[in-house]
Amino acid sequence: MSKKRVFLTRRLHEFALKELRKKYSIEVHSGKIPIPREKLLKKIANVEGLICFPYDKIDKEVIDAAKNLHAISTYSVGYDHIDINYAKKRGIQIGYTPDVLTDATADLAITLMLDLLRRVTEGDRIIRRGDWKVIYGAYDYVGVDISKKTLGIVGLGRIGRVVAQRAKAFGMNVMYYNRNRLSKSVEQKLGVKYSTLNSLFSKSDVVSLHVPHNSQTNEMVNLSLLKKMKKNSYIVNTARGKIINESDLIFALKKKLIAGAALDVFTNEPIDSKNPLLKLENVVLAPHIGSSTAETRAKMAEITVKNLNRGIAGKNPIYSVK
Ligand code: NAP
Repeated sequence: MSKKRVFLTRRLHEFALKELRKKYSIEVHSGKIPIPREKLLKKIANVEGLICFPYDKIDKEVIDAAKNLHAISTYSVGYDHIDINYAKKRGIQIGYTPDVLTDATADLAITLMLDLLRRVTEGDRIIRRGDWKVIYGAYDYVGVDISKKTLGIVGLGRIGRVVAQRAKAFGMNVMYYNRNRLSKSVEQKLGVKYSTLNSLFSKSDVVSLHVPHNSQTNEMVNLSLLKKMKKNSYIVNTARGKIINESDLIFALKKKLIAGAALDVFTNEPIDSKNPLLKLENVVLAPHIGSSTAETRAKMAEITVKNLNRGIAGKNPIYSVK
């Protein structure tokens, strides 16, 4: 019996490829990332399995082009790049990688918040430009304390909860907004207070976003919400770029409606070289590295392969998009 075929839109760890080769005939896209659409449409035509990444748009057209597809396994917890409803209608199993990247992503959110409030990369830029001319004194180049500040978490799910735990260790007060309020006992255990979205934006010193991107959360952070924030407050986004209206954020930063932003995710990635965010001092930028630690990336690869194996066998992936 001939081996089933699997297409990968980019390279995974060698141990994962070795595992895949044992069972399948695999082809790995090399060259331009993301894979050019025409190539994806061609390569997906006859395969039983697809391994993809968050920047690969797996929409109706791609799914229609895939005549034999049984399983899509994405190397990410976010699945806003896949037309889930249509894939399900076609009976395709969809796997993703929650849990294993929770700590790493929460760590990055905290890292960005600390960096922003203590102006670390801003200082790095000052030194590298040769602009560090005096030893800073009482009023020069000051950041702000982290302890006793209020952190507002939008989306207290897997990652949001770990961010809350980390923030509590820094002595922060934590409030959150979800569509569904958590039980009193869970709130108490985590030491968090429920808030409406508007109130969270107006009361927080730092807002950190941890909701998935979908039609409900698309540009949920817009100018009207940003205007509710305190002038000395900050926003951190390690979720998805399109959750913020980026033009509104740039306007708010330029007009100093808020004190700063730290962003791991953007409306367009990689970021355009003309993006005005690149010129703003009160901004910390990271190149979408929320889950990017060696340990986490290896665990994600392991799960991506396991999800694919189960999906191709017609079973629910171990982490299956519901
Ligand atoms: P999760 O466990 O599903 O948590 C999502 C939280 O958001 C839940 O508490 C959910 O509560 C809330 N939520 C969902 N829709 C909402 C809405 N419309 N309004 C308000 N709250 C809403 O997800 P997670 O594992 O923490 O991951 C969150 C997101 O982080 C992922 O979807 C992904 O896009 C992003 N991420 C980014 C990176 C990176 O590299 N930067 C890495 C990992 C993850 P309710 O259902 O009660 O509303």
